[in-house]
Amino acid sequence: MKATTTSLLTFALGSYPTDLERLDALSTSRSELWVKRDDRTCAIYGGNKVRKLEWLLGAARAASRTRLVTVGAAGSHQVVATALFGARAGFEVEAVLVPQPASAHARKNLEAALAQGLRAYPVGAWSLAPLAVAARWGRDAFLIPLGGSTPTGSLGFVEAARELAEQIAAGLAPEPDVIVVALGSGGTAAGLAVGLEQARMRTRVVGVAVSHPASVLAVATRALARRTAALVGGVDGARAASRIEVLGGYIGRGYGHPTREGQAATADALTRAYAKDGLDATSARGFELYPTYTAKAFAAALAHVRDGRSRVVLFWHTLSTAPLERLAPLAPGVALAPRLARLFR
Ligand SMILES: *Cc1c(COP(=O)(O)O)cnc(C)c1O
Repeated sequence: MKATTTSLLTFALGSYPTDLERLDALSTSRSELWVKRDDRTCAIYGGNKVRKLEWLLGAARAASRTRLVTVGAAGSHQVVATALFGARAGFEVEAVLVPQPASAHARKNLEAALAQGLRAYPVGAWSLAPLAVAARWGRDAFLIPLGGSTPTGSLGFVEAARELAEQIAAGLAPEPDVIVVALGSGGTAAGLAVGLEQARMRTRVVGVAVSHPASVLAVATRALARRTAALVGGVDGARAASRIEVLGGYIGRGYGHPTREGQAATADALTRAYAKDGLDATSARGFELYPTYTAKAFAAALAHVRDGRSRVVLFWHTLSTAPLERLAPLAPGVALAPRLARLFR
């Protein structure tokens, strides 16, 4: 643990800075596309939940809590990450789990979380989750709400924006006009907006709605940005919030449902991201995306490049690309308990 400038405790979980890379073959003469490789925040499990958990686990420890209670979709990355890093930091970890569309990835996430010792409390619908969370309450419990998106969790992305500002100052990349990022519960976008405001960069944040309608997410994410700014202190919360734009039009049939644009973007990321002229595309393997969040966000980033209004577009990768198999030593074919298997519909 390290003490930080805001005198809160954090756990050091990730290794920073994460790389910034230019995607030549996906850039145009008017618009450059870059990627921030937060898929590799940590070698055992990366993605955006790592930065949030550094602060959330620190807050739990500072409050002398020993049990983490969280909530999410059955295959939630937040639940896997909390199970993994929470257990390693010595906490008991419990999660209220809500049904989601079936996919091999979501199922593997849950298996990985259970392999870390997660205690799972499945419910039949989102409407039942608050009561199930309340039932887990106790003086030893620290609540990590949906997606870890509290002002404390968002501090991880205030720091991430500072990290980006330092990389730009060091000449590693041009200053982006926009950061394009998947938006689920808003902590990532809100924290970035506050950090960008603090660093006095000109960059705006485009959150791509993947969980709820854009209008709902815009209100919630800007409110979270203002609360995060208040926690940081000395940052204009209203100005930070006004950097956030939430984009609808990419969610398709809803959370967890793949879209055609997302699939096309996934293929581009994997085969063309690092392609160079004259090089066979398959010799330059790119990065992986997944339909629920990052495929939809990368589709939006590619559309931003195509419309050419932003000179520099930075796609913020938020999905762990560490192999999950290492965390889920369950033998293939081992069945999930029926009460958990029913969560995938
Ligand atoms: C949780 C998650 C997000 C959403 O982040 P928020 O801070 O909740 O908006 C985006 N991408 C991936 C891969 C995630 O797991």
